[in-house]
Amino acid sequence: MPTFSTARTEIAGQPIADLVKSFGTPLYVYDIAVVQERIADLAAFDRIRYAQKACSNLAILDRMRRTGVVVDAVSAGEIRRAIAAGFSPDAAKHEIVYTADIFDRDALDLVVEHSMNVNCGSPDMITQLGERRPGAEVTLRINPGFGHGHSQKTNTGGEQSKHGIWHEQIDECLRRADQSRITITGLHMHIGSGTDLEHLSEVCEAMERTALSVGRTLKTISAGGGLPVPYKSDESYVDLAKYFELWDATRNRLGEAFGHRLDLEIEPGRYLSAESGSLIAEVRSVKKAGNNVFVLVRCRIQ
Ligand SMILES: *Cc1c(COP(=O)(O)O)cnc(C)c1O
Repeated sequence: MPTFSTARTEIAGQPIADLVKSFGTPLYVYDIAVVQERIADLAAFDRIRYAQKACSNLAILDRMRRTGVVVDAVSAGEIRRAIAAGFSPDAAKHEIVYTADIFDRDALDLVVEHSMNVNCGSPDMITQLGERRPGAEVTLRINPGFGHGHSQKTNTGGEQSKHGIWHEQIDECLRRADQSRITITGLHMHIGSGTDLEHLSEVCEAMERTALSVGRTLKTISAGGGLPVPYKSDESYVDLAKYFELWDATRNRLGEAFGHRLDLEIEPGRYLSAESGSLIAEVRSVKKAGNNVFVLVRCRIQ
């Protein structure tokens, strides 16, 4: 159970008063030890790919990189941030994957220039990449036809979601890949934040079914992100050992079917960084307006 203390005087061993004296407020402070603990929690996975939209602070990205974590990038801007933090765009190293539902022109240029890994969220991306880089290897982001999220906004599976390739379009993807001499080497399912274990076995079954229809070219499967972070005192973490067990069993069954081992990747965002961050602010006024309470803090830009 996480603790939600009300009277903290230190962050990462630093007195808050000293931090305020040195840097002023508002101030974001990150405790890298928390990030490192979360990374260690996921050591059973072959690869931890951080979804940098959770916090793309360059110093944090750099420290994660030194611990062996790799990143995803959902835009040209995130590709540039990842490179600035020291990640290699070289596809052979698998350090940055461009994962999106479309290619912005900027992003396609960068992907081609650096021969980067691409995780395609629509069949058109296969063809568009094939025109510029025939012979490339790609992974596909699959929408299995159902989703799970703590709100409509974070539910990234099912008919209402624009994310990923609809599960009935795999044949079309295989045809497009053949036409462009593209090889599909991995599958990825990220269907919503807040995944729970009852739901997870369905996700794993959908992954297995889809992987069998793609076949032996597959070398990786990715469990996506969505590992819950407790936001309130009655919420808790997912049982990571069980979570891994379900995915590991799926990976092993596929490995037997294909005659080679598959890598198992996980793609958390908030899980790695959310609890490392604190915002220090100076409260200047607390006031009520009907049922709402507003806490007004000092702003640096006057
Ligand atoms: C946001 C995102 C994640 C991570 O989601 P969390 O809920 O923060 O773990 C993973 N993959 C992709 C493609 C995302 O957009």
